Amino acid sequence: MNIRIGIPRALLYYNYVTLWKTFFTLLGAEVLISGYTNKLTLDLGRDMVVDEACLPVKIFFGHTAQLLEQKPDFLFVPRMVSVEKSAYICPKIIGLPDILEAGKKEMPALIKPTMNMVSTGNIDSFLREAGSCLTTDRRKISRAWKIARQEQNAEDRQALDKSRSTEIGAARTGSKLPMLLLGHRYNLYDDFLNLNIRKRLWQMGCDLWTPEQFSEESKEDTIKTLPKAIFWTFGKDILGTVRCFSRLPGPKGVVIISSFGCGIDSFIGNMAMRYLHKAGIPYLNITLDEHSGEAGLETRLEAFLDMIRWRRPFNEDHISSYGTPLGDPEGYAGIHGVYGYSATSYQ
Ligand code: SF4
Repeated sequence: MNIRIGIPRALLYYNYVTLWKTFFTLLGAEVLISGYTNKLTLDLGRDMVVDEACLPVKIFFGHTAQLLEQKPDFLFVPRMVSVEKSAYICPKIIGLPDILEAGKKEMPALIKPTMNMVSTGNIDSFLREAGSCLTTDRRKISRAWKIARQEQNAEDRQALDKSRSTEIGAARTGSKLPMLLLGHRYNLYDDFLNLNIRKRLWQMGCDLWTPEQFSEESKEDTIKTLPKAIFWTFGKDILGTVRCFSRLPGPKGVVIISSFGCGIDSFIGNMAMRYLHKAGIPYLNITLDEHSGEAGLETRLEAFLDMIRWRRPFNEDHISSYGTPLGDPEGYAGIHGVYGYSATSYQ
């Protein structure tokens, strides 16, 4: 019988599922993935971590608990410290294996290889450790990783190809309003966690853009001009995306999805908002927590879209007093007459 490896459908699953799944399958494992997030996932996760943990982490723990029903031999919970040579992943993600092992719930053995490109500059030890419960044949492990990497790259390219031609050219055709949904992938693609925001925006007539529709190179390029290098991979992605998107011609808006209790979002989000404010691009900041009331979200989205659509013909320069940052260090707060329409934030 094949060894059964469980992967929680949460956090970096949304970035690397194809890579991880293909890798373990090629090494002969049966990969088990938890189901879609639901209320029970959140309840289970809430019981396993401290209240202060952010919502995506609580949901991650809920998924690990739900995976136990499928009786995996191992759980794959890598310690992702850094995936590139100059930036880090969030500390809460780095600590996941430790929090799981320290918890009261009995868990199967963890496969917890460390990915730390800052200190090692390569993934050799990560691969050895990841594949060690299945084989000690290094060549087999490397081959499996290479194929898995190609599959993940092909998938990433697919998302990119849809929009590559429009990145610096004209916006997509049609009357839909270009709307960037900005945030971590696990916030954008977990429909329970984000109260189905993608479907809502689509139904409200938006042409949705997401971070993976901009190439890594163009994102890197646009943030080179920042006075200081960004310390976090997630932060680079968010700021690079918002800068790429701002180059699209014509009216557009940005919906920023952040997590309550997230240190990275609290100031990377603020940097993104200041940039948008300066560029005159309307934005809406939605902070996700454990509340699941959909009416509040619906009202805010409607108001935001009405604001963009109704004010455009009048070329209004209104800036909401609520959304105006106090003491904007860049000195743009409250300057009227600069923008085509307002840079307003709803929280
Ligand atoms: S980056 Fe923010 S939302 Fe993501 S795990 Fe870390 S604290 Fe939570």
